Amino acid sequence: MVKEDVLALVDQGLMLPLMEEFYTIQGEGFHKGTAAYFIRVGGCDVGCHWCDVKESWNAETHPPTGIDHIVANAAKYSDTIVITGGEPLTWDMGPLTDALKARNLKTHIETSGAYPLSGTWDWICLSPKKNKLPEGIIYDKAHELKMIVYNKHDFIFAEEQAAKTNKDCILYLQPEWSVRDKVTPWIVDYVMQNPKWKVSLQTHKYLNIP
Ligand code: SF4
Repeated sequence: MVKEDVLALVDQGLMLPLMEEFYTIQGEGFHKGTAAYFIRVGGCDVGCHWCDVKESWNAETHPPTGIDHIVANAAKYSDTIVITGGEPLTWDMGPLTDALKARNLKTHIETSGAYPLSGTWDWICLSPKKNKLPEGIIYDKAHELKMIVYNKHDFIFAEEQAAKTNKDCILYLQPEWSVRDKVTPWIVDYVMQNPKWKVSLQTHKYLNIP
């Protein structure tokens, strides 16, 4: 296929830059401890300085892959499929989630919300970043809000973002991994004083699994 044709298919969400895919345990947030198949889509221009998947940023380094191929693979492993990135909403998630739904698979997304919401989701984990704030209806649709805490100002940012979410949205504070020893005690204190929040830990990293 010539490059222009591939780019057109990526534009339509029929191909996606696939960085990696793996069957593991969801380590974070509401579904922690649950087996799921992860699809990591390349491409993100949000630019968090502490990002632990910087190799995902440049979409051109990840092969454009047909969604039929992605879905057929995923269906072999799990009935719960987590789409992560990078920033998955860089791309049109409609065709991928339609194909997953056609196989009765549950669709979960982990997103910063930096781009308009596309796709059909059973679970939306919204993790806003200061560099590029979420747009539009995703605050109404999010099932969980996961705020990463790197410094003390992140508690203020977390409250600002929580004020925008729907009333059923579950609120999580999660230490940024590289500073976890410093910020986890802050989070513990904060949650005890503000119990609408819960603590989320990256348990997969403690378990040494992907
Ligand atoms: S939004 Fe996610 S993938 Fe993008 S830079 Fe931030 S942490 Fe990394």
